[in-house]
Amino acid sequence: MRETSPTPGGRRPTRGVVLALSDITSWSWPEEASAAGLTTIATHGMAGDSAEFMQSEVGEEFRTRCERAGVEIEHELHAARELLPRELVAHHPDMFRMNEAGDRVPDANLCVHSQEALEMCCQNATALARALAPTTGRHFFWIDDGQPMCRCPRCRSYSDSDQALILENRLLTILRKDNPEATLAHLAYANTLWPPTDVKPLPGVFLEFAPIQRRYDLPFGVRDARSDREKAPSHGEQLDALDANLELFGAEGAQALEYWLDVSRFSGWNRANVARIAWDKRIVEADATLYHDRGVRNVTTFAVWLDGDYVRRFGTPLLREYGDALRC
Ligand SMILES: [Zn+2]
Repeated sequence: MRETSPTPGGRRPTRGVVLALSDITSWSWPEEASAAGLTTIATHGMAGDSAEFMQSEVGEEFRTRCERAGVEIEHELHAARELLPRELVAHHPDMFRMNEAGDRVPDANLCVHSQEALEMCCQNATALARALAPTTGRHFFWIDDGQPMCRCPRCRSYSDSDQALILENRLLTILRKDNPEATLAHLAYANTLWPPTDVKPLPGVFLEFAPIQRRYDLPFGVRDARSDREKAPSHGEQLDALDANLELFGAEGAQALEYWLDVSRFSGWNRANVARIAWDKRIVEADATLYHDRGVRNVTTFAVWLDGDYVRRFGTPLLREYGDALRC
């Protein structure tokens, strides 16, 4: 059993699921997660929706049930769009990212060399963090999903990973004013798969690694495996990126964010065509060992659209097998 010793901060290593709010409200997730030996449920979607949910009566009931079941609550969110309200572009275009054509555009993210933009993000992150109140003190305010960062003259020599980290260092500093133990994820994923090279993480910024471009019919450790999606890096290249990130951020606090139970991914993100999860316990066990051998103690998976409707159609998911795989 590998899970019994606590992480250096005294917190249990995470064995989690990341869910849409509609998953949480349509199935008995707190009790099912607890019975499977899982430690953590994270919400996923718009940050404002998660915050509103947690402040609602239904959210309060969810919090109570999780507490009773011994399950932590977190929120894993692509939040840049909400940290910097888009309507500000009309009067403050310099807060927004510059595209390759040299125009300031509100489509995603921000200019991380705009102090006004960073301050606005910090102010909104503080309010969101108070409303979300993750029970672990771990925060996930990621940049917008797979979207480019700023190409202005001051930003463009910095990679998207470096620009994300400039924002994260500022957010962590402000979040620690409310909670000195707060930590914040740096998401290595898509355009931030490779680590920052010019900016160093402040202590408390931890690595979260989400290999969305891998295959799920083979273990992650099969280095020459490659998805047939265009320009997908091989497993080996993605693992090299993981190792390079671990070198910069350290393994302490690091988290793998997987897709083993992600109904939305297995369905091609098409809600009209929900597909059964392609579950292979041996692959999940091999992957869990791969992460553990690298010192990654926190492991979670998207399980979006694993809801009441999915259970009625396909039966109860193999959550115990998942929980066991992370422990064996
Ligand atoms: Zn910029």
